Amino acid sequence: MTPENDIVYLNGRFLPLEEARISVLDRGFLFGDGVYEVIPAYGGRLFRLDEHLARLESSLDQIRIRPLLSHREWESILERLLPDDRDRSVYLQVTRGVAEKRDHAMPAKPTPTVFAMSSELKNPYDVHVGVGAITLDDTRWQLCQVKAITLLANILLRQQALDSNCAEAILIRDGLVSEGAASNVFAVIDDVLVTPPKSHDLLPGITRDLLLELAQANAIEAREAAIPAEALAAADEIWLTSSTREILPVVELDGKRVGDGSPGSIWRSMYDIYQAYKQSLRSS
Ligand code: PMP
Repeated sequence: MTPENDIVYLNGRFLPLEEARISVLDRGFLFGDGVYEVIPAYGGRLFRLDEHLARLESSLDQIRIRPLLSHREWESILERLLPDDRDRSVYLQVTRGVAEKRDHAMPAKPTPTVFAMSSELKNPYDVHVGVGAITLDDTRWQLCQVKAITLLANILLRQQALDSNCAEAILIRDGLVSEGAASNVFAVIDDVLVTPPKSHDLLPGITRDLLLELAQANAIEAREAAIPAEALAAADEIWLTSSTREILPVVELDGKRVGDGSPGSIWRSMYDIYQAYKQSLRSS
């Protein structure tokens, strides 16, 4: 990190990361009582900002924190965290703030803590090779549509995948795919691209929505439909999507090859379309 990149935003101030401090009584620290967003920036342009901020507002509303800032106010804060044109990932977090004592009950008049920082965006995986994944029981709660900072279940599930030398855990609830521990899931089944419909079982991913839009615009047949675990196991292609990992092909599931064990042809088409979309943002 260069020194400028160490500048973070905390409660109305821009300051070096090492000077940013919060109270140990912050409910984010004590309870994981807060929500967050991760927004990529390509060539200094924030990616799908309005969609990310709409999801943030929805998360805040569902955990009963009033909206704090307008989209333009968020934009001017987040843009100051982009020191150059390099691809970056902006993290922002809102917690219910500091309460006088540790008590589950919400304070009557909370002062939320608002924090944001950015870091260089690098996909740790070689997308042209693909990754392995395992399926696990979805042990999370029933508010997965909220982008909550309370991520213990996701952490345990993802670590189980990493411990099995896999990149991700694909989660199964009542026999159906919900999503990855930190991603949404797409599968190519009988030449159709399928992703589970939005519900309380999954995060409404910004990348997921964009992929459905791009599929439609490019005559790739796509559908929102339940994916039974057995259909996933027999799928020709499986992809994981997220803002930071983009579209990551799964080439091995539970130790068995997916398709011919390399990224599939529909993935290749969608990858090119996605890269072109990013490039148009950079030069816009
Ligand atoms: N589901 C979960 C559980 C996630 O953590 C993420 C990424 N944070 C996603 C889906 C993908 O969402 P997005 O495309 O907005 O990054």
